[in-house]
Amino acid sequence: MPLLSSRVANLKPSLIQAVVAKSRELRAAGHDVIDLSIGEPDFDTPDHIKKAAIDAINAGHTGYTAIGGLPALRAAIADKFQRENSLAYDADMITIGAGGKQIIYNAFLATLEPGDEVLIPAPFWTSYPDIVTLAGGTPVITHCPKEDGFKLTAENLARSLTPKTKWVMLNSPSNPTGAAYSAAELEELAGVLRKHPDVWVLSDDIYEKFFFEGHEYATMAKVAPDLFERTVTMNGVSKAYAMTGWRLGYAGAPKSLAPAMRLCEGHSTTHPCVITQHAAIEALNGPQDCLDHMLEAYKTRKALVVESLNAIEGITCLEPAGAFYAYPDIGGLLGKKNPEGTVIENDTDFALYLLESAHVGIVQGAAFGLSPNFRLSFAASTQNLENALDRIAEAVAVLK
Ligand code: PLP
Repeated sequence: MPLLSSRVANLKPSLIQAVVAKSRELRAAGHDVIDLSIGEPDFDTPDHIKKAAIDAINAGHTGYTAIGGLPALRAAIADKFQRENSLAYDADMITIGAGGKQIIYNAFLATLEPGDEVLIPAPFWTSYPDIVTLAGGTPVITHCPKEDGFKLTAENLARSLTPKTKWVMLNSPSNPTGAAYSAAELEELAGVLRKHPDVWVLSDDIYEKFFFEGHEYATMAKVAPDLFERTVTMNGVSKAYAMTGWRLGYAGAPKSLAPAMRLCEGHSTTHPCVITQHAAIEALNGPQDCLDHMLEAYKTRKALVVESLNAIEGITCLEPAGAFYAYPDIGGLLGKKNPEGTVIENDTDFALYLLESAHVGIVQGAAFGLSPNFRLSFAASTQNLENALDRIAEAVAVLK
């Protein structure tokens, strides 16, 4: 009898981790590596949120909470959905987890039977297919090329659904492309989904707070209220409030599903850290102006990154609508040789070439299911971005 379950045996180590490990190795060897491979805000958690956590510790709020979380947190989340998104989720429809990742996992764990499919538009956040596999389902990838703005079109959706499709994953703005769905585009997708009444939508809105000029937040449960009863609206504090390490994600889900998601949470982590829950109440209820300077910084960096990448021959970069990623196409560089005479055959070769020769860490498109591209995270200082972009331009210029 094999030791490892088939669920785990089918998991793949993240390709992102491979780049991160290699760049750590180079750093340890004394090289000045600029790492743009990590999807994490480079800001510190705002002080008023930290203070709420410290106050909670000092007040002795260190024991278990209810499985579904502190009532005040569930109320804060329900208020946030109503106030900011006009979504009517009452506290019974709120579920929390140790990060947005656990929310997705709980939703799939609660609903997937072997053979059930989850449709994942590529490029996708690397964890989606593995979470589906771990929860016992089958990830089905559909390609959304740059000609479609890296987005799922109604035609693509209609073509990709099968009788076994249980969920469609939507992520807007997207990691890794920064592409975002407008309300009109979501309405087109809703038109297809209306013909498939058993298909659910998981809307991963974790980058909601970061939209650039000319784009605004839209989410399926609001755009298509008739799909509300089969949509999970997922969000979290990790990216919005620079709280990645605190581990708190949340969702609004219909009453047919939310209790089952809470059961999964209760029997795994019990609930997210109580101190984090107190901090999250302050994040959601407290002053929101802390978000402004983060968004301004991302806007400036986005402009710098897109302009600099498009100035490099062989690279083309679509303008991201939000989040803090660019996903340039490197089709024009494939087949070229580096100064040692090695041919750049794919985006993994390119990522390794940049890391080893220019000491810039990015992630190859292969990790996100659509090549030949790379993801560059601009959650980094302007100085680091400028240096990295100069290095990329120089490394590309010597390819022949
Ligand atoms: N969804 C997307 C698209 C992400 O990029 C991430 C984190 O990188 C998550 C979910 C998970 O967020 P959390 O850190 O809250 O688990």
